[in-house]
Amino acid sequence: MHRIVLLGPPGAGKGTQAVALRDRLHVPHLSTGDLLRAAVAAGTPLGKRADDYMKAGQLVPDELVLDILRDRLSQPDARSGFILDGYPRNVEQARALEQITPIDAVLAFAMPEEDLLDRLTQRRNCPKCGAVYNLKTLPPKKPERCDNDGTPLQQRSDDTREAVQTRLTVYNEKTAPLLVYYRERDILHSIDATGTPEEVRQRIARALSLSGESDSSAEAL
Ligand code: AMP
Repeated sequence: MHRIVLLGPPGAGKGTQAVALRDRLHVPHLSTGDLLRAAVAAGTPLGKRADDYMKAGQLVPDELVLDILRDRLSQPDARSGFILDGYPRNVEQARALEQITPIDAVLAFAMPEEDLLDRLTQRRNCPKCGAVYNLKTLPPKKPERCDNDGTPLQQRSDDTREAVQTRLTVYNEKTAPLLVYYRERDILHSIDATGTPEEVRQRIARALSLSGESDSSAEAL
């Protein structure tokens, strides 16, 4: 079964690859960041509690995230597998996850820190369709407008330089120890996350041995 965790610093391309993997494997993409942002936008009690942590680039308290994750994993579409993006973020969360479900593979995205800072501060999103741009490397055709629907692009409130610095520090201190945790469990695959999305997709396909399943779909991944 494909119960996959994407691990890696912010800005390494986890979201982009999660969408490609979802389409290839036909399992849902579960992003705790997306779930939390939706709760903030909807103004739920959980969203209200999470908002300040997220804006500052700090982790939202474990029990809040675990609640929404447990809820999402219990939905029928996650029964045959999932791509978990943004969870776990620390060892306590990894232990909690183990109580809920086994994990088959952890893909650890590796990228130099100076590239991450650059990618995150240049990142822009379309609030309507979710398309992601980079002002330097993947600019929209019209300045600050989405190519798909013309919607004015936005910057995530935690993609500012200050919040990004905090998120990288939090990653190094709290999340990076999970590399050892999952290596010890023999399910860790290191992925070089530099280069084009296509190059990274191919490395992931090789790491998961997907090319053997169907050559044409492995190409597409
Ligand atoms: P992301 O979209 O994964 O970069 O997450 C954005 C923000 O949501 C993070 O900086 C945290 O504030 C919060 N967040 C997402 N996932 C988690 C998690 N597993 N544990 C704690 N906070 C999280």
